Amino acid sequence: MGDKPESAQHKIRRSSSTGSGILAFLAPAKRRRLHALAKELEVANRKVTELESLILSKNEFISNISHELRTPLTSIIGYVDVLSTKVEFESNPELDDIFKVLDRNATILISLVQSLLALSQFDSPNRSEAFKAVNLLTITEDAIFILRSEIEKKRISIKLNFDPEDTFIVEGDPGLISQACINLIANAIKFSSAEKNIEIRLIREARTDKQSTICFSVRDQGIGIPPDEISRISERYYRASNAVSDHVSGTGLGLTIVAKVVALHNAQLKIESELGLGTTFTVDFPAQLSPVATLILNRKFGLLAEAIEGIQVNDQRELKAKLHEYGGALGFYEFAEFGEELLSLSRTLSDVEKIVDSQTLKARDQLVVRMKEALPIKETGEANVE
Ligand code: ADP
Repeated sequence: MGDKPESAQHKIRRSSSTGSGILAFLAPAKRRRLHALAKELEVANRKVTELESLILSKNEFISNISHELRTPLTSIIGYVDVLSTKVEFESNPELDDIFKVLDRNATILISLVQSLLALSQFDSPNRSEAFKAVNLLTITEDAIFILRSEIEKKRISIKLNFDPEDTFIVEGDPGLISQACINLIANAIKFSSAEKNIEIRLIREARTDKQSTICFSVRDQGIGIPPDEISRISERYYRASNAVSDHVSGTGLGLTIVAKVVALHNAQLKIESELGLGTTFTVDFPAQLSPVATLILNRKFGLLAEAIEGIQVNDQRELKAKLHEYGGALGFYEFAEFGEELLSLSRTLSDVEKIVDSQTLKARDQLVVRMKEALPIKETGEANVE
């Protein structure tokens, strides 16, 4: 079962764990019911596995066919371009229109093929395991560079605003994030008339003192989106009525891809638009934590649990040293208040006295109760079974 999708394997393991050992303790009626349920579960699991393998085959098919179509299409577009430079349009005005139609349709086809390819890749399992640090600023600059001929053709002015002192690193799949940024900027260009402005911004917003959000936004002065259609525009193949009536070409797949990329990266997509005035798309990505912040986050609760155990020493002669040791460490790992309290308790203890007075022990125990409350609730991962 090596090539089976991970989730299918998981489901099968769960169904077969309805152990016969447990069944032996149950009344016959309950046992029969459980047997029947286990059978039903097995059938359902088999169906899920079949469907998952069908989805995989479908995606593989789309992916292959898209690859096969892309090469000849790119070549057609290239030759149309070369041919158009050789034709005397003044003496053959009708050829100009023919070339425009050819170019437009070939471009739509290639963007359709690329979108289908991108969409088919989303369903591959464990996609988020390939995540790495992605610099959103570089991605944005590259996207603008890729789209420069469209920008120049329409004489659009693009402003990229960001704080040069800051960094804009998120965790993710660079290819997918890049595709989403290109789609958003390409739409801003496409749905704007010539000589308009587009503003792209990268800003950091604090969430907590350690965590922040990187907001990537694209604001245009284009045709806008009718208010009652905003909620539908990221649906597959959906195109707003004004895009259709204005004959702006497209496939209705670009924002579907953006929405999928956003969901995969635990980001949020916001759309604000005023019909006829312009649209702003904002994607809020959770910022990547710095190495130190990651270390603290991974270690802090483990250390708190360790401190709780450490200060409940049996040998009271060790209490002063333990309070001192964990007091200092907890302060560093974001539990400044507990750290202070441990240190001040340790200062009340003498270095010579062997027995700790009951009041100090009581204060220690009260502190332990509060420290335990600060620990995250443990998830056992087991479902409650009646
Ligand atoms: P496409 O651009 O190929 O039509 P998308 O999925 O990228 O498909 O967008 C879906 C629809 O959302 C568009 O057809 C258009 O109606 C609307 N839309 C997207 N971006 C903008 C924008 N910047 N300004 C106005 N409308 C937009």
